[in-house]
Amino acid sequence: MVLVTGGAGYIGSHTCIELAQAGYDFVVYDNLCNSSQEALKRVEKITGKKISFIHGDIRDKEALQKVFDTYKIDSVIHFAGLKAVGESVENPLEYYDNNVYGTIALCEVMQKNNCKKIIFSSSATVYGNPKTTPIKENFPLSATNPYGRSKLFIEEILRDIFVSDNKYKIILLRYFNPVGAHKSGLIGEDPNGIPNNLMPFIAQVAVGKRKHLNVFGNDYNTVDGTGVRDYIHVVDLAKGHVQALKKIDALNDVLTVNLGTGKGYSVLEMAQAFQKVSGKKIAYKIASRRLGDIAKCYADPSYAKEVLDWKTVHTIDEMCEDIWRWQSMNPDGYNI
Ligand code: NAD
Ligand code: UDP
Repeated sequence: MVLVTGGAGYIGSHTCIELAQAGYDFVVYDNLCNSSQEALKRVEKITGKKISFIHGDIRDKEALQKVFDTYKIDSVIHFAGLKAVGESVENPLEYYDNNVYGTIALCEVMQKNNCKKIIFSSSATVYGNPKTTPIKENFPLSATNPYGRSKLFIEEILRDIFVSDNKYKIILLRYFNPVGAHKSGLIGEDPNGIPNNLMPFIAQVAVGKRKHLNVFGNDYNTVDGTGVRDYIHVVDLAKGHVQALKKIDALNDVLTVNLGTGKGYSVLEMAQAFQKVSGKKIAYKIASRRLGDIAKCYADPSYAKEVLDWKTVHTIDEMCEDIWRWQSMNPDGYNI
């Protein structure tokens, strides 16, 4: 049985579908601080399978122990965490408590229950401002904000756990920019308030919720001066977790893998792709650079192909089509 922490969230809910379809038994553990149980109901609708869900916080070791008492958990996919960069700068302690302490609490309960397999949601943010692109797993690591630092700390903690007991099987998955939604249009990304990320913002401009997109800087050294990122379809990303689970037993060291497409697109290229697919004009204004942003970030995905036998298949147009379907079918997200 797989324990999926944060399984009601954006990436977690899509991963639940892939796990169910690959025949894995799993239980979702989530405190719903940034998600809705409605997402899991829709996963049940899509997969035709009942989902075991426990409402709880990863920092609550007693509640976690009950999960281990109830289910025979042999591995954990650990999505639970807070992810807003700006919020982490304003409230670093909350981020270190939730993300770092939360992971420590989870690992303590795992250790007590002799559960030694974990797949962790890391991020390309751990590469800081890379000197060159594409980014390989052995590039130097750094962080420019508490969110990124929490990911770096957790990676180090998990590596130390492996050093202390090399029976552990640990996979650190460094996601690039997850976007898109399940083809059904039933689940997708549902940010609270004004979206921080580019694609949910563009989608809200398209449905008329926001007047225009602010493009954060057009004087970067990129194809058109706007920031370049590696956008990865969330279903491809979700399948990466299933591949990681399939490979985890054979590991004899901590495995660190980039999950990206290997291609970078600029802000204006993404706005244009969305406009083409949706038929809606994406009005934009050039604004100043966002503090802490980097010019270019995209993965070298070749190691993922080699060790996980995984690569992305979805195109930028599919990402935009799927966001558009989700956004038009659910203009208010899960607040139905
Ligand atoms: P999300 O906010 O949609 O999902 C996270 C889930 O964790 C939510 O359902 C939330 O309620 C839950 N959660 C948070 N703190 C918890 C706690 N203390 N106890 C129990 N549940 C808790 O975010 P997501 O985009 O699905 O991201 C999943 C993971 O991937 C996160 O760890 C995030 O940092 C990481 N990640 C995300 C991105 C991205 O751009 N979306 C990129 C790189 C890495
Ligand atoms: N971006 C933008 N306007 C927005 C949100 C994002 O121009 O309203 C740009 C941002 O500067 C970056 C790219 O879009 O170049 C992706 O930003 P996002 O926050 O989605 O991801 P991240 O910066 O974390 O990679």
